[in-house]
Amino acid sequence: MKNIEKYLSLLGEQADGLLLTSRYSRHYGAEYDIAEGVAIVSANGCRYFTDSRYIEDAENGIRGFQVIMTDRAHPYSQLINEAIADFGITTLGFEENYLTVAELRDFEEKLNAKLIPMHKGISSFRAVKEDWELDNMRKAQAITDKAFSEMLGRIKPGMTEKELQAELIYCLYKNGGEGLSFDPIVVSGPNTSLPHGVATDRVIQEGDFVTMDFGVLYHGYCSDMTRTVAVGYATEEMEKVYNTVLQAQLAGLSATRAGVAGREVDAAARQVIIDAGYGDYFGHGYGHSLGLEVHETPSPNAANDQPMPAGAVASAEPGIYLPGKFGVRIEDVVIFTADGYENITASPKNLIIV
Ligand code: ZN
Ligand code: ZN
Repeated sequence: MKNIEKYLSLLGEQADGLLLTSRYSRHYGAEYDIAEGVAIVSANGCRYFTDSRYIEDAENGIRGFQVIMTDRAHPYSQLINEAIADFGITTLGFEENYLTVAELRDFEEKLNAKLIPMHKGISSFRAVKEDWELDNMRKAQAITDKAFSEMLGRIKPGMTEKELQAELIYCLYKNGGEGLSFDPIVVSGPNTSLPHGVATDRVIQEGDFVTMDFGVLYHGYCSDMTRTVAVGYATEEMEKVYNTVLQAQLAGLSATRAGVAGREVDAAARQVIIDAGYGDYFGHGYGHSLGLEVHETPSPNAANDQPMPAGAVASAEPGIYLPGKFGVRIEDVVIFTADGYENITASPKNLIIV
């Protein structure tokens, strides 16, 4: 089914039109990425508005929508009202998770249709990926794999975390990344106990763990992976914690299958960490879905009691973080299938000492 047909299937009792304002939903509906714009979907026609910076690209790339340019004399609200009149729209579903209060008030004041919050329905289709989306995600994850293998030759004592982060970003773009799915996390030594620490001027030393969590955009789709490596050597305790996290991830992967509740996957991994005595040091969820956004739903975490669908793409990222000492996280991205999963991350997971 074309994505625009999925959006059309939402129309009926609740709303007879959709107002797509987020880049993600416009990309999903038009199957083409334009940084800025607004789109209208209705059974009587679909329109895509963008400004002079993007109009040529939009006219060439977007199918299924009439493309119209906005400018000072033709603001979005006026163009939307013309579509409302032409298509006979009375109720317009909108994405409440992506509009500011000011934007919503402006639309409410100016638009000649009732606005209905429909983020949940509009975003729901993204939980299960189409084959062409999976291809983009495999490619994005392959780029991160390549960047990681190059980074192994670049991590040296004496470098700062910020220098390492700069090298990582360079490797991500050089290997085909079209953007970053988020600011890469690069932490070392005691900073590795900060799950989402920010790179500092700390100098990397022998005996440090270095954790790198990073991803790229490829045709708008995100990749995400984490590896923790040791510099020079690892102590017995570092090895023990590393292997516990690895065993936890493998246990999570063993439980990964379409039809299994998200929380069961989380529990399988978490139990390994609890059994090893580190239960208090794994504060975050086991994983999250990703796609056009780096954090989507449904997620394999403790809060999700719903079965994971086939075609969901989610991270597998347990961690142990010992404050003041060090932390370890290992993250792959997998596709849920009827009989298990496809791991689209190829980088090795044994403890690497650089
Ligand atoms: Zn990550
Ligand atoms: Zn992640």
